[in-house]
Amino acid sequence: MIFGQKLLWKILATGIIAQGALFGTPAWANNTQQYLSYSQLLEKIKAGEVTEIDAYPSQGIAKVSLKGQKSNELMYAVNIFEYNPELMDQIRDQKIDFEVKRSPNNSAAIGILFNILIIFIVIIVLLTIIRRSGQSQGNALNFGKSRARFQMEAKTGVLFDDVAGIEEAKEELQEIVSFLKKPEKFTAIGAKIPKGVLLVGPPGTGKTLLAKAIAGEAGVPFFSISGSEFVEMFVGVGASRVRDLFHKAKENAPCIIFIDEIDAVGRQRGAGIGGGNDEREQTLNQLLTEMDGFEGNTGIIIIAATNRPDVLDAALLRPGRFDRQVTVDLPAYQGRLGILEVHARNKKLTPDVSLEAIARRTPGFSGADLANMLNEAAILTARRRKEAITLSEIDDAIDRVTIGLSLTPLLDSKKKRLIAYHELGHALLITLLKNSDPLNKVSIIPRSGGVGGFAQPILDEGMVDSGLFTRAWLMDRITISLGGRAAEEEIFGAAEVTVGAANDIRNVANLAREMVTRYGMSDLGPVALENPTGEVFLGRGWQAQSEYSEEVATKIDHQVRAMAVHCYQEARRIIRENRLVMDILVDILIEKETIEGDEFRKIVSEYTALPEKQMVSINLDKKS
Ligand code: ADP
Ligand code: ZN
Ligand code: MG
Repeated sequence: MIFGQKLLWKILATGIIAQGALFGTPAWANNTQQYLSYSQLLEKIKAGEVTEIDAYPSQGIAKVSLKGQKSNELMYAVNIFEYNPELMDQIRDQKIDFEVKRSPNNSAAIGILFNILIIFIVIIVLLTIIRRSGQSQGNALNFGKSRARFQMEAKTGVLFDDVAGIEEAKEELQEIVSFLKKPEKFTAIGAKIPKGVLLVGPPGTGKTLLAKAIAGEAGVPFFSISGSEFVEMFVGVGASRVRDLFHKAKENAPCIIFIDEIDAVGRQRGAGIGGGNDEREQTLNQLLTEMDGFEGNTGIIIIAATNRPDVLDAALLRPGRFDRQVTVDLPAYQGRLGILEVHARNKKLTPDVSLEAIARRTPGFSGADLANMLNEAAILTARRRKEAITLSEIDDAIDRVTIGLSLTPLLDSKKKRLIAYHELGHALLITLLKNSDPLNKVSIIPRSGGVGGFAQPILDEGMVDSGLFTRAWLMDRITISLGGRAAEEEIFGAAEVTVGAANDIRNVANLAREMVTRYGMSDLGPVALENPTGEVFLGRGWQAQSEYSEEVATKIDHQVRAMAVHCYQEARRIIRENRLVMDILVDILIEKETIEGDEFRKIVSEYTALPEKQMVSINLDKKS
């Protein structure tokens, strides 16, 4: 991919504009004058036409009256320097009336006033913004009586049928529904019902949806709050919100309390840099107290969601609190198909759109991504005035979700040519490397988010779903990522490479480092050298983070570097050896803006042999 650095320019430009507005003297303050150049002035003085000169050193100008000019007529302004020996000589020779004035007209004063006015306006705008945000925070100044910040839905209207692809989680939670519906059945035989369930999984996998479905199936109210909403600026607000929430819930039992992003409050106490966060700890303590405070069978079930269970305070996970953990993972093929079926229910699709094919093409998509993608396809269909969603809308929607909105193509220019070569570098390597997945398409239509173009492989569904990436696949991945920069350098020379490859290079660094430190795929051997969740600012202390010495750190750096350099050389070699086909492809790409994988392979195969594995995958991946 190639990324533009537009933001940088925006920041620089605003800096310049703002400075101009604040410190410049406004142009309109003295535009009612005629100008003379310095040399014209000297000539006029020599010719004896000048009667009077008033100098205004503060503005660096002098005003000049000419012979025969009426006193109320405009004076001529001349830019002068601080020392004007010639001018002074001339003035003395010609005996011109010369005067130095302190405060000319009031243009300087107006300038200052104008600046003060602008500063004043800025302050007023800032105050308004601060006031507004204060109000939207539920009036933070009013912290004595915390206002309810949680939502209550009497009926969520979501059923288990609306949740697909996470069958195990659904099954585990079925039991909770039965309890909420018929608690007697459990209490009669002395069974203790769990109070809290922790849903663990990446964003968009349906955790909130699942919690709502439990409430919906059981027909009980649903209280929800986000962990980040507990934590406010003022100490004590979070704790009183927790109290409020549980108070309301008890009045409405049986019910579900859903706490989203619980890691925002539930982090390991006394950890992190700069000591603990009093407010967060108080809130957490209150939460623990409330959870202990009601008996197991009051009919309140607390469901919390997080994607970072590892940072949670151990006290939260003890029996009687969130002692059940249910994992909600990214859906595999069957799951994706199920989710697509759920969201296609209320949408019209043409018969040639097969949900199976879409599910196969979207490894790594979360439930939310899939829902979003189908919705985008429906919007596109309406915009194109079609009756039903066709394959082309699905294609575009997938691109939109994975890469971004497409923008107007660039006009043919050096820039466009450079982007084309960059993307072709990626595409050629995707096609020629033995362990890479086949090319899906290469495009130089710019996309939102600063994307200048992209070259995209068809992801191998089995590999992504299982997460079992091989070393060879990862190495080819690095080479492919460097292909953009390699092409820039091969074709335009080292001096012409651009910042557009920044993202590629960052990806390479991350991937190579992971290969060395986590997967044991370098000469350092199969040792894990990094704590995978060792972010300094999150939860558990930071002492645990680096588990190796300086010396090993240096070795890791060497390994990462060696890997990147090796792959870069390889990328350049392949591009150099296929320069002819690159030059042919670049003209096609500039004209058509997108080349599909099949066509790309056909062109390349006329000039060089394609690796074998690739041909097999192509047939596998034909849309059904
Ligand atoms: P999370 O809380 O895990 O971040 P959400 O429950 O908020 O995810 O999911 C957002 C949306 O994505 C849901 O409202 C739903 O439309 C869709 N979605 C996510 N997962 C699923 C799923 N398993 N089945 C059906 N729809 C899903
Ligand atoms: Zn790139
Ligand atoms: Mg959620």
